[in-house]
Amino acid sequence: MKDIYMIRGKRIVTVSKLGTINNGALVIVDGIISEVGNWEVLQKHFPNIPVIDCSDYVITPTLVDCHTHLLEFAPTSLYPVTAATHFLAGRAILFQALSSGITALGEQICGHPLCDFSKEDYQNAVRDFPIDVSFATTSISIGFEELAHFTSITQSHAVDQKDLSNPTIVQKIAQASDYPGENIFINATPANFTEKEVPRAGEIIYTLEELKRIAGIYHQLGKQIGCHVAGEAGIRLALEAGMDVLHHAHGITDELVEKASQQGVHIVATPMGGTHMQPNSPMNILNLVEKNIPVSISTDSYLPPYQGTSWVPFQDQTLQGPDVLMLIAHPAMQLLKKHHYDENKILALLTANPAYLLGKSSQFGRLLPGFDANFLVSEGIPGLEITEIDRIKEVYFRGVKVISR
Ligand SMILES: [Zn+2]
Repeated sequence: MKDIYMIRGKRIVTVSKLGTINNGALVIVDGIISEVGNWEVLQKHFPNIPVIDCSDYVITPTLVDCHTHLLEFAPTSLYPVTAATHFLAGRAILFQALSSGITALGEQICGHPLCDFSKEDYQNAVRDFPIDVSFATTSISIGFEELAHFTSITQSHAVDQKDLSNPTIVQKIAQASDYPGENIFINATPANFTEKEVPRAGEIIYTLEELKRIAGIYHQLGKQIGCHVAGEAGIRLALEAGMDVLHHAHGITDELVEKASQQGVHIVATPMGGTHMQPNSPMNILNLVEKNIPVSISTDSYLPPYQGTSWVPFQDQTLQGPDVLMLIAHPAMQLLKKHHYDENKILALLTANPAYLLGKSSQFGRLLPGFDANFLVSEGIPGLEITEIDRIKEVYFRGVKVISR
């Protein structure tokens, strides 16, 4: 017996070549989308299947946040957890993401002094959770007075700077990585710390030769590599070394945008912050899209928001989570609209583009036959027309309603 139903919406924003379908409907069979089209047409074809009437609402793909630190860094930053309760907090944080319309995450496992967990521990913690989690295994360099380096392989044990380029360690990290997240930190990161605590944030950690060797190890394994990078010098190194994905790319110049475009590099914009520099402005994101660079917008959460820009709408450095994805994407999405981009192409920055980065471009991120039935029932297009999570009325994951307000 198949589980089959039809859901009707005022508008279906498919984020595909079908565009937006007014008065549309989806037919869902066993958690997979089987038909997408006009409501009247589909109703005639399938007169006897149950209908969920959401004709006052917009139906869109669910959101994908492809650069987060919710399971490793966030629990100890937000809660007084121990090793025994770490993943209880982690799952509560994931639920917060789910209730914000996010059903796929790109999580970073960097190594952390307080978390002696392996990739398998993180995978096991989320196995039955209604969110599709991909893990990027990484190394990390934190810009303390004395630089601190960790890797996902060595877990809670700090390593020396030279270990970051050790081929045996790099190969293990590369092998374990599901997708090109911030696999290496070309610049030391401020992480969750205040400016005073991390005076060396931004310092370049690698030579061009080291970066080329590291990229080569990933490519030999048939994997793409992503990097944490900001500033002209770091971005130039990243592009010359053959990095496939730039995370942040804060401070990218027009010349380097051109070079990134020619090399077919994907950029993950984090307009809330995440490096030592001013984050991606709406103008910067428009510029990347205009140069045909695939762009995803991501929270990099939990993160203390950058202060002193017009597009980061937070008054203080309280850590912010995945619930602000729509809010931080909104200024850039509006600017794209002003430049006459189609709403489907704009919403792709939060759906299809990050799904592609996670290697899931034929599984989710669009509403098309054969795709997972991951969709939102909302009062408007997420990030473009609405920014408050309360205006997302329902979240469906693989055909099952998992959030209802
Ligand atoms: Zn990050």
